[in-house]
Amino acid sequence: MSKEKQFVKEITPQGEDFSRWYIDAISKAELMSYSPVRGCVVLRPDGYEIWENIQRELDRKFKETGHRNAYFPLFIPESFFQKEKEHVEGFNPELPWVTEAGGEKLEERLAIRPTSETMIGHMYSNWINSYRDLPVLINQWANVVRWEKRTLPFLRTTEFLWQEGHTAHEDEADARKETMQMLEVYRDFAENFLAIPVIMGQKTPSEKFAGAVDTYSIEAMMKDGKAVQAGTSHYLGTNFAQAFDIKYLDRDNTQQFVHTTSWGVSTRLIGALIMVHGDDRGLALPPKVAPTQAVVIPIGPSKTRDQVVPRAEEMFYELKRAGIRVKLDDSPDQSPGWKFNEYEMRGVPIRIEFGPRDMENGQAVLVSRVTGEKRPVKLDDIVQEVSKMLDEVHDAMYNNAKTFMESNFKAFDTLDEVKAFMGAQRGFVLAGWCGSDVCERQVKEEAGATSRNIPFEPAEHKTKCLVCGEKAKHTVVFGKSY
Ligand code: AMP
Repeated sequence: MSKEKQFVKEITPQGEDFSRWYIDAISKAELMSYSPVRGCVVLRPDGYEIWENIQRELDRKFKETGHRNAYFPLFIPESFFQKEKEHVEGFNPELPWVTEAGGEKLEERLAIRPTSETMIGHMYSNWINSYRDLPVLINQWANVVRWEKRTLPFLRTTEFLWQEGHTAHEDEADARKETMQMLEVYRDFAENFLAIPVIMGQKTPSEKFAGAVDTYSIEAMMKDGKAVQAGTSHYLGTNFAQAFDIKYLDRDNTQQFVHTTSWGVSTRLIGALIMVHGDDRGLALPPKVAPTQAVVIPIGPSKTRDQVVPRAEEMFYELKRAGIRVKLDDSPDQSPGWKFNEYEMRGVPIRIEFGPRDMENGQAVLVSRVTGEKRPVKLDDIVQEVSKMLDEVHDAMYNNAKTFMESNFKAFDTLDEVKAFMGAQRGFVLAGWCGSDVCERQVKEEAGATSRNIPFEPAEHKTKCLVCGEKAKHTVVFGKSY
């Protein structure tokens, strides 16, 4: 037995220790393993397949909105970082450096990319000459490295997988339109693919991306009430264009700087979907992203196996041909009860039970991972019925998560109320904010909550700052975050 399996005998209940539950659940379901390198995890096949499903759907959406993929180098010359002041200040503490290679000291140190605005900015300055070259709409799927102090599998790792979109436009209006379009792509993806309800909004200046004019995010609430920034979209203005001299000749023959954007989501989404949907039995995977959407389990006395298993196999192939990610577990070594627990723990959305009596009746029994509902269905309709239940499971997961978020989201007027709320339970808080860094910092220091974003559609508008009581400039969502 592997060390990890011995280590995770049972999954710690969420109410006892949520962080422990998370590590137990993802280890036992074999999504990841810790690696010998600090903060770097190994994505095992079930974990990686979730990422591949995320990738496939997002890639489709990016292409649908006119983007193409390209690939840029992993190494970035040190001088590139010096060109954009805020960017270098923000990222310097997190950069690993290559100083030596091939047995020789390098003339210029190379950073391992934490993000690629600088490299891509350099390339765009070569590629863009005229308004006819614009817009440039490129995405890269890559690994990046940020030397994080605190790490947690998927949610915050030293090396992570992500996509980074980088676009260049003629003017501010076009670039801002792109920034919002991609934020909307992320919202739609989180809600309709991962069944994670999110809050869309703008980051406060202290929380924005280093080098951006404006940063927008989608924020999600985990089952312990903490926040996860699930995706970001940045309007970079002409900051990188000026630093990297990305100019074009406009329609009136004058030189202009381009306006750029960048946007990204990462393997953090895997951690988020686990923390939003999982329960004391383990993972609960949203159907659209689950590596296995349904598992067929033959049941009944062993003497009936010879008749039941071949018919179960037929059902398995029928579902597979219809494009459902299905698995057949007909192994005689484990009891059906053991298998039921195993696939529930792994988060498979639907279990299909099939025994001799079902065969006689020309039916199978579908069991939903999330609601526990058992539904006998005709074998003739198996494909439609499974597809229908997958949709229902998605909707139930989304609705559960939305109800949870709404019931743990409170509006307050004063810092004392926020402190009491954050101390007693966890969740999000909606409050007024005057716009000063000092007040924002005080919320962090005293209530342990950071501003998540300034929501586009707050449930209500607050008129006074929760700290100083002055007129509120914005209504802000605060929360403890991962
Ligand atoms: P940023 O370039 O900082 O806007 O990051 C883009 C997205 O990457 C964020 O919204 C996060 O979802 C994700 N992300 C940032 N840092 C990490 C990390 N250390 N591990 C995993 N995902 C990350």
